[in-house]
Amino acid sequence: RSSLKIGLVPADGIGREVIPAARLAIEALGSDIPKPQFVDLLAGFELFQRSGTALPDETVDALKECDCALFGAVSSPSRRVTGYSSPIVALRKILDLYANIRPVLSVAPTPDEKPKVDLIVVRENTECLYVKQEELKHTENGREARATRLITERASRRIGTMAFELAAARPRKHLTIIHKSNVLSVTDGLFRETVRSVPRLNEGRFDDVQIAEQLVDSAVYRLFREPQIYDVMVAPNLYGDILSDAAAALVGSLGLVPSVNAGDNFVMGEPVHGSAPDIEGKGIANPIASIRSAALMLRHLGYAAPADRLDKAVDEVVRQGTVLTPDLGGKSKTEEVVAEILKRI
Ligand code: NAD
Ligand code: MN
Repeated sequence: RSSLKIGLVPADGIGREVIPAARLAIEALGSDIPKPQFVDLLAGFELFQRSGTALPDETVDALKECDCALFGAVSSPSRRVTGYSSPIVALRKILDLYANIRPVLSVAPTPDEKPKVDLIVVRENTECLYVKQEELKHTENGREARATRLITERASRRIGTMAFELAAARPRKHLTIIHKSNVLSVTDGLFRETVRSVPRLNEGRFDDVQIAEQLVDSAVYRLFREPQIYDVMVAPNLYGDILSDAAAALVGSLGLVPSVNAGDNFVMGEPVHGSAPDIEGKGIANPIASIRSAALMLRHLGYAAPADRLDKAVDEVVRQGTVLTPDLGGKSKTEEVVAEILKRI
């Protein structure tokens, strides 16, 4: 590659405050990566309110021409809005970004100490309840709502394979399958059984990965009591969403936790947090989740050393603890934290 075409979709709320920070961090890498070429793209609820479209075709078409992308966050209202559907949920499906990889890592007090939390939530990204097939019926006893929860062997196998690959590449090589098969024996049963069958289909490739499983509710409990038992956790879409937000609390803030949406042909970095309307426009959004998402994206493309540079710079700033946004107990603005990180890249 002579250049790296990166689509930027800040979308709503603090997405527009933190994606520019990620851009600056990537630019600071200089010639360590192919020359970045940024493509600014529109999506989101505010765009929907202005134009009637949350995810324009131009954005989707332009993303297909990019090498990778960074997505900020969308403000999806909790009430039903006719004609609106979350663009991030749609993009994951359209670009077939079937895995949402969410490393949750605490920063150790000194560089050589072990972090207290060091796990990856591997969340299935295309199905489960997020197929959004909901229906409302009026019955003689009032309204009745139903949702379809889709679990397929194909999606479970590919997310399972991705999870085994990630586990095999880590020192502990430990994988926990998260499910609720004791109640949902058909849907979660298929997920569990399919993930379990992955090593058999891969002739010895994953023989050294140790497999455990845990019901999702007790997984949250154990996550809070003994987070160090977890290495890689693989889960259906909704459980993975909830578990990763919960895990974020263990490391101090959602503003620290990055993710990538990955498929076989494309990767899109995305902070785990949402559009944070409570702090929008105040200039205090933590830019670290976005910068780490840029690092994850680069790592996924094979640029491990530049990704390390970004992560190291962030870790130093967190460890130093004097220039932090309020979510981490600091008093600094987004731009001050960004400047502090850029100095170290
Ligand atoms: P949220 O993640 O936006 O915020 C949760 C809490 O964490 C808030 O108090 C917020 O201020 C704080 N927070 C989050 N990111 C932060 C950061 N970078 N720096 C400092 N503090 C941060 O979750 P929510 O409030 O439940 O949802 C708000 C909106 O975001 C909703 O409309 C929801 O649909 C949307 N959302 C979008 C995505 C996405 O785009 N992938 C993900 C989650 C939520
Ligand atoms: Mn979420």
